[in-house]
Amino acid sequence: MLVETLPSSIVRYPDPRLRRKCEPIEAFDDGLAALVERMFEMMLRGQGVGLAAPQVGVSRLLFVANPTGKPEDNAVYINPVLSDLVGTVEAEEGCLSFPDVRANIRRARRCRIQARDLAGNPIDRVGEDLMARIWQHEMDHLYGRLIVDRMNDTDKIANKKLLTDLESSYGRRSKKR
Ligand code: ZN
Repeated sequence: MLVETLPSSIVRYPDPRLRRKCEPIEAFDDGLAALVERMFEMMLRGQGVGLAAPQVGVSRLLFVANPTGKPEDNAVYINPVLSDLVGTVEAEEGCLSFPDVRANIRRARRCRIQARDLAGNPIDRVGEDLMARIWQHEMDHLYGRLIVDRMNDTDKIANKKLLTDLESSYGRRSKKR
């Protein structure tokens, strides 16, 4: 079984679950389909353009994305691999695990993704700009890398209070457990 119960809340920085190494998905079954459906709901609710499994507490190589918010643009990427990264562009990003934090992050402008879809069929796509940025941001999550790791000094200073507040509210929550 992939998960005992479906996730209901998004894991926030600095929860250590965001730093864990993810394992591949092996079973393309109903449990996976239910988890993916829940992740789409949570991404939509948070008005995000992408959501990775560690952000819902599941350490698996899986993310969902939707650059437009239109239901027909929902896409799931299972066991993804990025390659052919080309160019560099800096643009503002947010992250559902960092509420209200915005930062300018440098990414490749174009890249290729190879993955599996929900049925286990191969996906092989090339994306540019926002699509390529979402893939790179979500891939980072699968390897425990977060926007705070890629932030420049200016953005670190600009977001210092938000980050400190997240750290202290996590500290309070973990003490209550
Ligand atoms: Zn994120």
